[in-house]
Amino acid sequence: MRPRVMSEQKISPEQPAKAPAPKPWIAAIHSYVPGKSRSADGRELIKLSANENPLGTSPAALEARAKASIPSLYPDPDSNALREKLGEVHGIDPSRIICGTGSGELLTISASAFAGPGDEVLYVRYGFSLYEIAARRCGATPVVAPDLDYGTDVDALLALVNEKTRVVFLANPNNPTGSYLSKGEMARLHAALPADVLLVLDQAYIEYVSPSDDDGGLELAAKHANVFVTRTFSKAYGLAGERVGWGTGAPELIEVLNRLRGPFNVNNGAQVVACAAVCDQDFVTHTREHNRIERARFVAALGALGNHGLRPLPSEANFVLTLFEGKLTAQMAHDGLAERGYATRWLPGQGLPQGLRITIGTTEQMTEIAAILRELAEAAR
Ligand code: PMP
Repeated sequence: MRPRVMSEQKISPEQPAKAPAPKPWIAAIHSYVPGKSRSADGRELIKLSANENPLGTSPAALEARAKASIPSLYPDPDSNALREKLGEVHGIDPSRIICGTGSGELLTISASAFAGPGDEVLYVRYGFSLYEIAARRCGATPVVAPDLDYGTDVDALLALVNEKTRVVFLANPNNPTGSYLSKGEMARLHAALPADVLLVLDQAYIEYVSPSDDDGGLELAAKHANVFVTRTFSKAYGLAGERVGWGTGAPELIEVLNRLRGPFNVNNGAQVVACAAVCDQDFVTHTREHNRIERARFVAALGALGNHGLRPLPSEANFVLTLFEGKLTAQMAHDGLAERGYATRWLPGQGLPQGLRITIGTTEQMTEIAAILRELAEAAR
């Protein structure tokens, strides 16, 4: 029997064919812009544009990785061994831990779980660019609080909390500014939030902060049902290519997020390498020390160019955002560094056309970059 044709409507060549339409809130998303590794003319550059670890990865972790991986089998769907190891190292019950395909996955699903159309997701101006995407993706309205000289202003954030607010995102240290909120300020922010508003504290760069200056995030997540802390293996652990992150909060919160994450979201090799990396805290300490020394040296070198209008912002992370307020513009500095072989991050798309973010690289790289910036500043006079 011939199948019954429901509609034989003809599409005329002049009329464009109908296509599936994305939801308006999805259509409003601007894709995430990753740090570049090539110049405009296609040359491979030294990549100081994505806050990766210039010291590489823990050798012990690399060794473990070489032995890992049975590609024909799915990985452990719940990353059990990794959650247990993280629990041991950080003193957290594994039922309070979730692993993700990078911490980016966890940030995204934390918004989707608790916010939707009609709700608001709040974060500070010059916050991490993924927060806007996470908010829009679930149909919520992104709300941006004013900054305080490029840092987080707790009072400005709190002033925008209302009955529609469902999620507050805060990176500490923050990307791209490097600013850092103290433990006291963090506690003050949390204490003033309604109990049904989720504070997502993004600690992607916390390993770069001296342990004595910790912001108390893990304690807040251990005590309160409305705090979710995320961390990543992409930065101080030097495993950006493996895509592993983790988060911690109340078991009920973790259970909800587990429903939203991708099944088998952390692959075999990534689980093994991250397990070994957590056990090598000496590598993390070495990374933090290298970063602290080179960041201070770099900031001092740029500070000496203050008469040329360069203003490096105080940073607790593995990068420095410098404002160019003189003849040499951030775009000129970005292009000049690319000419000399370095990829850095110019940020006009994030409202910072005057800002250039440079990842702290090796000692030699930072010495050379400071010298290039001096030459460029003097040439622009
Ligand atoms: N949070 C912040 C503040 C970041 O800068 C980044 C990466 N640039 C992430 C989260 C996400 O990192 P990943 O998904 O690699 O864990």
